[in-house]
Amino acid sequence: MAEQHGRSRSRLQALDAAHHLHPFTDSQALHQKGTRIIEKGEGVYLWDADGNRILDGMAGLWCVNLGYGREELIRAAERQLRQLPYYNLFFQTTHPQATELAATLATLLPGDMQHLFFTGSGSECNDTVVRMVRHYWATQGRPERKVIISRHNAYHGSTLAGAALGGMKPMHAQGGLPLPDIVHIDQPYHFGEGQGRDEHEFGLERARQLERKILELGPERVAAFIGEPIQGAGGVIIPPASYWPEIKRICRQYDILLVVDEVICGFGRTGHWFASEYYDLQPDLLCMAKGITSGYMPLGAVAVGGRVAAGLIGGGEFFHGFTYSGHPVACAVALANIAVMQAENIVERVHTDTGPYLQRAWASLGEHPLVGETRGLGLVAALELVADRQSKRRFASGLGAGLVCREHSFDLGLVMRAVGDTMIISPPLVITRAEIDELVGKARQALDLTY
Ligand code: PLP
Repeated sequence: MAEQHGRSRSRLQALDAAHHLHPFTDSQALHQKGTRIIEKGEGVYLWDADGNRILDGMAGLWCVNLGYGREELIRAAERQLRQLPYYNLFFQTTHPQATELAATLATLLPGDMQHLFFTGSGSECNDTVVRMVRHYWATQGRPERKVIISRHNAYHGSTLAGAALGGMKPMHAQGGLPLPDIVHIDQPYHFGEGQGRDEHEFGLERARQLERKILELGPERVAAFIGEPIQGAGGVIIPPASYWPEIKRICRQYDILLVVDEVICGFGRTGHWFASEYYDLQPDLLCMAKGITSGYMPLGAVAVGGRVAAGLIGGGEFFHGFTYSGHPVACAVALANIAVMQAENIVERVHTDTGPYLQRAWASLGEHPLVGETRGLGLVAALELVADRQSKRRFASGLGAGLVCREHSFDLGLVMRAVGDTMIISPPLVITRAEIDELVGKARQALDLTY
């Protein structure tokens, strides 16, 4: 059996090396080691091509919120494939699933977000945001309001506009980026950039960079500010409590639209349907994807608040949309996903039970000699690997402690991700207490092996 597994793995690895270019992957390193092949999933577990069982501490890419193998989602997709596998939303047309989903989302969203524009992914949401906010201001007779302010080390996707809005330097260095009229301010990363400083003051200072940037550019040129409530791919960066209220104040004072990217935070990850509720953000636009279908089908949506919706509705045709905007099978799966989340009180469970339980267990890793900080909210968490726990001195860059820890973790049967020397987890929202114990136990073992 093991030999059979090995043969099948070797064959796939050879084909993969010969034909497959992977996203976010160094192909040479991949060819030396051989692709890791995941064949099956059930609940919070994956199985690789050698038959090893692995706890998926990242819910795929922060998306498989209901875990693998949910019959309700599978049946919804199958039913929809038979009924109507594809139709579009262009040219005064809809299908029942998109309309039902828009209406359902409107009941879950915070504030006055009553309109939805569907896309096929998180990146497409952010491309939509760039065009939508500029179009909105044009409908208001203010076409000069074009500049969008984002943050260094933000992640908003991989399309041109998504990557330009994002603040990832290696992405900006490739492929004609950044784009004009998109600028960045510093992130509210206290452990990484504010050590030794009062957290509250640091949060205010980072938020006030927005005000300085608006004044430097001229408020009449600025269209919007965009941010993830908690930066995910940047390293699960939880801003100081002083940060978001100040950002909100500044946006209001200068009449700048507030856009929140909840592609990771949305759909219960923080113990709220949307993290905008937790931070009381009252955004003008809100991007969602990933957890909307638990990753079973590609889908994204931009939720639009009353003010922008009125501008768009009265502003003539918006020349924008994707063939797979609101794909009917994806919308059917999203409706089933939301129905299961509601029937099983998933958000409530994360808020009151599994979220606090994970955070307590995860915080215990803070006593490990390799760990300088632990942090998290709901079912997302991070820890910082440090060279010296007392002084919180970080490793010299390039030593790769994070990658070593990630590999040990994988070998122990846990997917944990490394962002530099920050280890992050974001498990399926259906994870049980016993599975959380297993996750934290394996993370501890991985730390021991890295030490
Ligand atoms: N926005 C955020 C906050 C994300 O984390 C991601 C992906 O990780 C995206 C946008 C891009 O989404 P997608 O990969 O579906 O295009």
